[in-house]
Amino acid sequence: MDFSKLSEFLVQNNQPAFRLRQIKLNYYSGRYSSFSDMTDLSLDLRQKLAENFSLYSVKSNLILESESTKKARLVLADGSQIETVLMDYGQWQTVCVSSQVGCPLGCTFCATGKMGFKRNLTVDEIVDQILFWKHDHKVSRVVFMGMGEPFLNWDNLLPALESIKTNLVIGSRKISISTAGVVTRIIDFANLNTEINLAISLHSADQATRENMMPIAKQHSLTELKKSLDYYTKTTNRQVFFEYLLAKDVNDSPKHLDLLIKFIKSNKLFYLNLIPLNPIKGGLTPSDKLSFFERELSAAFVNFSVRHSLGQSIDSACGQLIVD
Ligand code: SF4
Repeated sequence: MDFSKLSEFLVQNNQPAFRLRQIKLNYYSGRYSSFSDMTDLSLDLRQKLAENFSLYSVKSNLILESESTKKARLVLADGSQIETVLMDYGQWQTVCVSSQVGCPLGCTFCATGKMGFKRNLTVDEIVDQILFWKHDHKVSRVVFMGMGEPFLNWDNLLPALESIKTNLVIGSRKISISTAGVVTRIIDFANLNTEINLAISLHSADQATRENMMPIAKQHSLTELKKSLDYYTKTTNRQVFFEYLLAKDVNDSPKHLDLLIKFIKSNKLFYLNLIPLNPIKGGLTPSDKLSFFERELSAAFVNFSVRHSLGQSIDSACGQLIVD
């Protein structure tokens, strides 16, 4: 919502000064699907607003539901489509937002990467994904783990985070950003020194394997990545969460395990999330070594947990979001 244009419009229509604040509160409450629903405004004003503004920058065209997850396909003003997911963890509901239409990074295990890249999402298109779910759910957490690499949309990411904190009143500790490892932005993020959680798609602690899985590793090596993350933990004193999808005959050998143990144990603030791979069409095969990894990681006293993604049955789990 372009509030500066709205403000001008309200002045031109002789509305009192508090009207802008009233509409802002309505908008960020997520309770209204359109201006027509805002019955605390006069009918005349509601009609004029509907003629001149769109309340949200995203429109739903498909919602798929499984037991604990809902996935929505949203259409943007230019016809582009993105996906966003609501995960129900019982006492809290988490929204997984997209930051780009498609993704330029092309990780081999990821459905979004196979779409290619179309464009960055605007601040409104990021925030409106949360408002979309807020209409019917009590959203308490937000994760940037949907389509796209959030750190490659830095200029819109920062104001979107600010809006989520101040307008949607979701605290920094309840927001997580996952990056494939854009080293320069990790340093910038460290310098911001926020309490927002940082997750890294690691998937291998072996340079050659990581390059095969994640082409970005050719640009930002593991050594550089580790250096930037040591800087992050030193600056913020906060944990870094590493995601490791276990793929058969790709990153599940004893050598991969040894390198992983060494990498995670190299910094006491590193924490590993081991994730069973979610199959995608033409993608990697899930590994059968999960129990072996679990046993060995425990024996080596590595800080880790196994994170089973919700929503596999509707293709809304990690790495499965795609718009054909
Ligand atoms: S895993 Fe993330 S960074 Fe890699 S292609 Fe998919 S969306 Fe992009």
